[in-house]
Amino acid sequence: KASPITPTDISMLERKRIAVLTSGGDSQGMNAVVRAVIRTTISRGCEPYVIYEGYEGLLKGGDYIKRMYWDDVRGWLALGGTLIGTARCAEFKERAGRLRAAKNLVQAGIDAIIVCGGDGSLTGADVFRAEWPELLKELVNSKQIQPKDAENYKNLNICGVVGSIDNDMSSTDATIGAYSSLDRICEAVDYIDATAQSHSRAFVIEVMGRNCGWLALMAAIATGADYLFIPEKAPNAKEFGDKMCKIVARHRENGKRKTIVIVSEGAIDSDLKPVTANMVKDILVERLGLDTRVTTLGHVQRGGPAVAFDRLLATLQGVEAVDAILSLTPETASPLIALNENKICRKPLVDSVKMTKSVAEAINNKEFAKAMSLRDPEFIENLESFYAITSADKSSRFPSDKSLKIAMICIGAPAGGMNAAIRAATSYCFARGHIPYAINNGWTGLARHESVRKLSWVETEEWTIKGGCEIGTNRNLPDTDYGMIAYYFQKYKFDGLIIIGGFEAFISLNQLEQARRNYPAFCIPMVCLPATISNNVPGTEYSLGSDTCLNSLVDYCDVIKQSAASTRSRVFVVEVQGGNSGYVATYAGLVTGSQAVYTPESGISLPALESDIEFLKRLFHNDEGLNHAGKLILRNEKSSSTLTTEVIADIIREEAKGKFDTRTAIPGHVQQGGTPSPIDRVRATRAAVRSIQFIEKNQHIRELPFHKQAGAFVVNGVKGAKLSFSPIRHLHDFETEFVERRPKNVHWAKLGLISDMLVGRPKVY
Ligand code: ATP
Repeated sequence: KASPITPTDISMLERKRIAVLTSGGDSQGMNAVVRAVIRTTISRGCEPYVIYEGYEGLLKGGDYIKRMYWDDVRGWLALGGTLIGTARCAEFKERAGRLRAAKNLVQAGIDAIIVCGGDGSLTGADVFRAEWPELLKELVNSKQIQPKDAENYKNLNICGVVGSIDNDMSSTDATIGAYSSLDRICEAVDYIDATAQSHSRAFVIEVMGRNCGWLALMAAIATGADYLFIPEKAPNAKEFGDKMCKIVARHRENGKRKTIVIVSEGAIDSDLKPVTANMVKDILVERLGLDTRVTTLGHVQRGGPAVAFDRLLATLQGVEAVDAILSLTPETASPLIALNENKICRKPLVDSVKMTKSVAEAINNKEFAKAMSLRDPEFIENLESFYAITSADKSSRFPSDKSLKIAMICIGAPAGGMNAAIRAATSYCFARGHIPYAINNGWTGLARHESVRKLSWVETEEWTIKGGCEIGTNRNLPDTDYGMIAYYFQKYKFDGLIIIGGFEAFISLNQLEQARRNYPAFCIPMVCLPATISNNVPGTEYSLGSDTCLNSLVDYCDVIKQSAASTRSRVFVVEVQGGNSGYVATYAGLVTGSQAVYTPESGISLPALESDIEFLKRLFHNDEGLNHAGKLILRNEKSSSTLTTEVIADIIREEAKGKFDTRTAIPGHVQQGGTPSPIDRVRATRAAVRSIQFIEKNQHIRELPFHKQAGAFVVNGVKGAKLSFSPIRHLHDFETEFVERRPKNVHWAKLGLISDMLVGRPKVY
């Protein structure tokens, strides 16, 4: 069972035995961690092991600790739960249990363990490492192991990877499984939405999360809920009923037919008394007379396969965990693999565990502000956005003579999150006393048909969960008719503009900024909010819609792979959108375990194609008599003008000489996605609120000298975990490849190497 790849230089290091276990509550993406750990360990020239059933397997030893091989984890990316089992093991909390665990590890010759679990599991790992020298001493004294074994294994290398649906680990911005769980919650709430709407009912929905309200908060934003209860923001025990009823009543008065309240299972009031879904229901029934039902989502939240984000996070963290283990010295503290500012990084495990515990302590001590400050800045900003758009508080409104008229337009192809952005911007406008306008059907809609209308709060309230683009979108640019566009800007006295879309939205902003010299109506703050599945807008690492697209592709490819696996001898060449940007193809390749990915950036060279065909031949040959795995090649639509999807499929078929067959598959506009993913909905909400705030802040640019106005024409981009506003002038002049319609530098350029390593694709020099 040889690995299809040659060990890299790291094999020169000591040949280590690295074991991985999953522990605590299962979460989607744990299998992807195990797959990445096993294959990276092999490719680094070491021996991978799994420990079944978490710490329980460690205590039992024997067959519970098993050597793994490359093929053992094939197909694991697409599977939910954890295939190596997990458990809550009370005995491991006792020293006697950990002593047995130590003996089993030494006897199996394991040098390092990677623990994938929640804060409890990682606390256990931390305790185990701290005690290790003492445990070995005791094992030698009681003659359970030899002194030379104690010497050989004197350092236990441990690395933590956070697998938990709660997203409750303080030092990382996302835990593996949290976004999949959020996806399950949003899907369920979307279903409930229809029945709530039909009967004009209220629903109180309880979601998981003991000391962490992340799932509840994100679900509340992503589903457009009316109210929210989370442990970090414990409401005043005497007032919370009044506050909630005031907001819900106001939403009803504004015409909303349904009410959704999300309650985190750990929600408490300021006296630390639980706020339960049934209590909330009783208040809504008694005070507002609403027909109210409670839904507890329970274990559905742990179910199903991992979403694209979790597969990516799990894979990258699994790879990093192995590399972290290999670079540990006896002096280095055990690392925890985290995600900060959208980058995979290492943090000291002990500190992370301590910090996480301090959130629970702060809550128990009623120090809610402290608990909140220990959450990441994105959490806090998302909470503020939620309050800003749902609040019934009139004190933060602009006086009517100072309110702003804010226009919104969508440009380019539809992308998941466009509607959510307009809904959030509209709600925020109402909260602040501004007047939101939609420009329907792009620049031509405005120039030819004066298609401008005021948006009403209730009209857009349902848009968060809608795919497509409710106000219409097309690719035309402002230069089709500057004069008419400026005329209508003047007629409606717009004070600010939000352009939602892809590369054409970027160009639109640039054209308007340039045209303002001749058309003073354009001298207003303008924000481009990137929304395109291609994720090719300069000034942002992430565009709305690209997560929805990736999830649609993952679902599509999972089905195709299953078909390919069933027919035993077929490889699918899947054509992926993305224009001249290989982002979608690269990410989709990584999270579906595709055998090869062709992008416009790398093109398709004949040696690469030849090498890939040889690789496929080897894989099919090795598969004979075994369970076949589905094989995929992803080809971005613009990778090559001659080597089209059909041509590649034909060449492979010809070269396979009957040993295997090829098919093409083109998901086409399915990639624009139906219902937007929770990530796109939440990011759309936060970005829309920030865009309006930017316009408020820059509303006086007309009064500035011409050359000082340029800073008010910006792209509202994601950089790491933050939103940042980059002036279009700078982006246009220094950071854009115009012919290729993409940014000069991308953050994902090296992802393809990891993808190749994990499928064993040979390098072509
Ligand atoms: P989740 O977030 O899904 O609940 P978790 O890892 O926090 O996952 P726990 O049940 O808290 O789940 O912990 C899992 C296991 O980790 C426990 O059953 C126990 O074996 C071990 N463990 C937890 N805390 C400790 C500790 N203080 N000392 C030793 N082992 C521990």
